[in-house]
Amino acid sequence: MEEEIFNQQIEAAQQRLHELWQRTRESSSLPHPQETLTMEALQELSTVLEELQVATEELQQRNEQLAIACETVKAERQRYQELFEFAPDGYIVTNTSGIVQEANRTAASLLNRSQNSLIGKPMAIFVAKEDRKTFRDILTELNHFPQLHDWEVRLQPSKGQPFPAALNVAAIRDRCGNLIGLRWLVRDITERHKQAEQTRKALEQEKELSNLKSRFIRAASHEFRTPLTIISMSAELLERYKHKLSDVQKDSHFQKIRAASKQMARLLNDILLLDKTEAGKLELNPIPVDLVEFSRELVEELQLSIGSQHAITFIHQGQCANAYLDKKLLRQIIDHLLSNAIKYSPRGGKVHFELICQDREAIFQIQDEGIGIPKEDQRRLFERFHRGTNVGTISGTGLGLTIVKECVDLHDGAIAVESEVGSGTTFTVKLPLNQLNQNR
Ligand code: ATP
Ligand code: MG
Repeated sequence: MEEEIFNQQIEAAQQRLHELWQRTRESSSLPHPQETLTMEALQELSTVLEELQVATEELQQRNEQLAIACETVKAERQRYQELFEFAPDGYIVTNTSGIVQEANRTAASLLNRSQNSLIGKPMAIFVAKEDRKTFRDILTELNHFPQLHDWEVRLQPSKGQPFPAALNVAAIRDRCGNLIGLRWLVRDITERHKQAEQTRKALEQEKELSNLKSRFIRAASHEFRTPLTIISMSAELLERYKHKLSDVQKDSHFQKIRAASKQMARLLNDILLLDKTEAGKLELNPIPVDLVEFSRELVEELQLSIGSQHAITFIHQGQCANAYLDKKLLRQIIDHLLSNAIKYSPRGGKVHFELICQDREAIFQIQDEGIGIPKEDQRRLFERFHRGTNVGTISGTGLGLTIVKECVDLHDGAIAVESEVGSGTTFTVKLPLNQLNQNR
């Protein structure tokens, strides 16, 4: 506007000058020294006015450039404001005392508050109580050494649980380099923490598994070596002294060879079964079973192989003649539980086996008076290769109960243990009767 008036004024002055110039020329027929001087002055004035006009045009051009620059700065500022506002990470600007001056949407949503409610508050109040002292200490430190700083704190959102956050702080300085504020980048790292925890657990499990595997390899080689030594020794004795040995002695050696081969076959069978369960290939094939007859046969078989140091008593209740179960898997269950009851009663003693059929359920209870199982081992009994801490020199691979549990699960049954170290152990297995689970 001012520029326009200025232009008009220059134009009017030029006009007036032109008229003056004309009049002076018209009266120039009478040469006069004063008139010549006026002419010169007018010419000078005209030059000045022209220069002034050029200067005005330049000024105008500069003003236009300034306006364009202003627009660009405005647009740039708007762009940065939007970047700040909609950044996927939380941004907070505070003064050097940590009072919030600006906060973007993400920061507000992380703290579950409105942007406005953050302004003017000390940032420390959004830090979980247990981390506040550390936060204040770091803030004080930042005032002295305001270089980039990275650390983790727990932030406290309104109405929610504290969450782990990574803070990254940058200094804001004025033209003279004085610290005038701090810019905080706030990142929720709950997921990162979870992943780290999962990786740690997976590594721990991997380590545990590898420990268990080496334990298993050691135990399995031992379990194979013992019967192999028995077989080779008995075979050698039979070969060398076949003429000197009595029939009873020979029978005893044959008996030992049979028992040792049976032990090896059993171990191999366990390993194969476990492999099948891991591959999801163990299947349930139920058929009608008379549970009393089946259990009695198993007990007799086992009693024959263990001699007279242990006595297995078998009692039953209820209607157990028409069960519909998988005989092979059932054999695994009862055989492993009875064998354990005997094996972990090294000083001999009674083993009670009770079968109860009631309410469409078969309950198998196997009770011994053996070494018992420590409490801390009880919850891990069904894990592969896990053995109790009190087994001492009693041999085993820690596979039996894993197989038992698999077989019970396939029947949709349940297994429980009660045990007291030094007093004995009771395993209870419950299987649904006459129920064929089609899904398995
Ligand atoms: P195997 O694979 O030869 O059966 P194992 O007997 O050691 O070896 P599991 O039958 O799976 O393996 O038993 C796991 C652990 O549970 C045993 O090592 C033992 O510590 C404990 N345990 C199982 N049954 C009994 C029991 N009746 N009395 C005491 N401890 C038992
Ligand atoms: Mg066992």
